[in-house]
Amino acid sequence: MFAMVIRPSSGDALMPHRKPHLPTKICPVCQRPFAWRKKWARDWEHVIYCSARCRREKKGC
Ligand SMILES: [Zn+2]
Repeated sequence: MFAMVIRPSSGDALMPHRKPHLPTKICPVCQRPFAWRKKWARDWEHVIYCSARCRREKKGC
């Protein structure tokens, strides 16, 4: 009765038909979404603001 849909749990990296979906975040200063950039590859987890300018604005006060 139950149609079990089994999804491969670790297949995200194995989808050749999809464009790589870049992660995005919302900048808390300008409230705009910004996408992953290669220069942030190493510390994307620590990237909070979309640009150095927004970072300055936040820390400015
Ligand atoms: Zn911003």
